Amino acid sequence: MSYPNTQLFINGQWQDAADGRTLAVVNPATGQEIGRVAHAGRADLDRALEAAQKGFETWRDMTPAERSKIMRKAAGLMRERAADIGRMLTQEQGKPLPEAKGEAMAAADIIEWFAEEGFRVYGRIVPSRTSLSVRQMVIKDPVGPVAAFTPWNFPINQVVRKVGAALAAGCSMLVKAPEETPAGPAALIQAFADAGIPPGVLGLVYGNPAEISSYLIPHPVIRKITFTGSTPVGKQLAALAGQHMKRVTMELGGHAPVIVCEDADIALAVKSAGAAKFRNAGQVCIAPTRFLVHESIRAEFAQALAKHAQGLKVGDGLAEGTTMGPLANPRRLAAMAEITEDAVQRGAKVLTGGARIGESGNFWQPTILDEVPLEAKVFNDEPFGPVAAIRSFNTLEDAIAEANRLSFGLAGYAFTRSLKNADLLTRRVEVGMLWVNMPALPSAELPFGGIKDSGYGSEGGPEAVDAYLNTRAVAVANV
Ligand code: NAD
Repeated sequence: MSYPNTQLFINGQWQDAADGRTLAVVNPATGQEIGRVAHAGRADLDRALEAAQKGFETWRDMTPAERSKIMRKAAGLMRERAADIGRMLTQEQGKPLPEAKGEAMAAADIIEWFAEEGFRVYGRIVPSRTSLSVRQMVIKDPVGPVAAFTPWNFPINQVVRKVGAALAAGCSMLVKAPEETPAGPAALIQAFADAGIPPGVLGLVYGNPAEISSYLIPHPVIRKITFTGSTPVGKQLAALAGQHMKRVTMELGGHAPVIVCEDADIALAVKSAGAAKFRNAGQVCIAPTRFLVHESIRAEFAQALAKHAQGLKVGDGLAEGTTMGPLANPRRLAAMAEITEDAVQRGAKVLTGGARIGESGNFWQPTILDEVPLEAKVFNDEPFGPVAAIRSFNTLEDAIAEANRLSFGLAGYAFTRSLKNADLLTRRVEVGMLWVNMPALPSAELPFGGIKDSGYGSEGGPEAVDAYLNTRAVAVANV
């Protein structure tokens, strides 16, 4: 099956790196190289920055209606091309084909929502204290060219949330997308190019992440940074942005608690949290990780979750019927082995899974660990893979305390039939997103983001657009 080489997109043109450097792209289901991606150097970045500045000046001066028209056309192209894009995404990232196609389709929904939201960048008129002839205005302007850094787990979705909001606000954006999964982001940018986005409004580069971020963040052209990835890297980039007084949005790691109360619908909890756990082979920042189950139902819940895991069909994402693909890179395989071994050494029980599948490709068995000690790595470090860890709790207060124990605060899940419990959980669980009695259902119109070490800012809802706007006050005396 054909897979394209990926070039850089600078000033409206696809091009090789100036020095011709490339990196290999590997299919995680086979371990085989399937293509190459251009590796940007300093000269490429300088051209991309110059184009981003010019692109900003063009896009800023267009009306919301003109911008929206281009954005909606790009959304339509993503929908038309979703099947082909899905096949590329599966080859580079590993996720099952329906999930990959779904990611391209969801991108279209996200673009369309932001295309409309661009019409609602409102200012306000504030009455003057001193004179009726003074008109005081609050004005929202785009911040300027933005540098975006996105990871490999949702190659398109992670880019489109940033691009959609930035374009709606009138900003240009230079994206440093993941080298491991370059074709998905390129297909998204191509849709905007084909929809007629002016040169420089969107740029796309790949290369050495640390070299690129350390050059772009301090650069005077760049006015805002947005990053999705791990908490340690996010802290480094936010610190650098702080030194240069740049606006920042950070969507970082999580360690989502799943609180299953005594009165929960166990079948619903297993189905919802199980699906969320193993989607994208668990490589999801909002994936459930710490299953906290009331002691009276822990054994029953654990067995049912193990059965759910055993029912998954692990394989190449292109194969018919596959419900869980390989891990995206060998680093995740090593991490799964480490956290599983550590938990077992500390006394956890493996109910199912716990080992690599085969010798080629990054396949790991869907794994359920029960009676996991609190000190186990899997209960403290983000697993970012198909490993679920279960512990029991006695009172809901204990469960909430455990949910809040870690420095992460991204997503949380709870299952209960009691309104009183649901209300307490809503008020007390320290996360940016909480789903009660349901699987995660993020959408463009809802805020998406974390608190505590999971980051700041939002990638959904009106707040996402606001993050790309400056708020200014202008007073005009009518003399
Ligand atoms: P990593 O921390 O090295 O990289 C995470 C992402 O950040 C990658 O896309 C990488 O290209 C980028 N990155 C790394 N250093 C950078 C730098 N100095 N400047 C700019 N970008 C940089 O780890 P990894 O092995 O790729 O992923 C493992 C961990 O990353 C996971 O355990 C998870 O915690 C986190 N992660 C989170 C998300 C998310 O959706 N929040 C997505 C992917 C990875």
